[in-house]
Amino acid sequence: MGIEEKLPSGVLLSTVENLAGWMRKGSMWPATFGLACCAIEMMSYGTPRHDSSRFGMEVFRASPRQADLMIVAGRVSQKMAPVLRQIYDQMANPKWVLSMGVCASTGGMFNNYAIVQGVDHVVPVDIYLPGCPPRPEMLMDAIIKLHEQIQHGKLGAHREAEEAQAEQDALGA
Ligand code: SF4
Repeated sequence: MGIEEKLPSGVLLSTVENLAGWMRKGSMWPATFGLACCAIEMMSYGTPRHDSSRFGMEVFRASPRQADLMIVAGRVSQKMAPVLRQIYDQMANPKWVLSMGVCASTGGMFNNYAIVQGVDHVVPVDIYLPGCPPRPEMLMDAIIKLHEQIQHGKLGAHREAEEAQAEQDALGA
């Protein structure tokens, strides 16, 4: 008798999912991607004082192909939006996006033609972090919350949501 037959239904799958989530959350590779003043706090988060290696991430990658976390730190200009999207598209799957600060999440005080009124118009966002600017400790808290999402997420669900969004965008175009 195989192990699947001895266990109650669903046990093995949820264990594999939990294991994958646990491994993923402990090995995140953020892209080097700062847009404005919020990026200063993000850089501080990467210093020994805040010691992000405690959470399984410390090296910011300069190549999107080696990164799976985009921290959008600061306002997104209309001109930067296609660049941001291209970097996102080049990142490895599964990948996550953290919108850092009120400008990245909503445009903030820059309610004008030059600034995208929320980066979720350009890429799917997994977690929003309020503040102007959020302190490194707040970024740490957001990353721990993102870890919880990753730990309890279903395998493949992230990509499915993204593909559904892309389909919707294509229909709307
Ligand atoms: Fe700068 Fe504040 Fe906007 Fe962050 S939220 S980019 S600190 S103005």
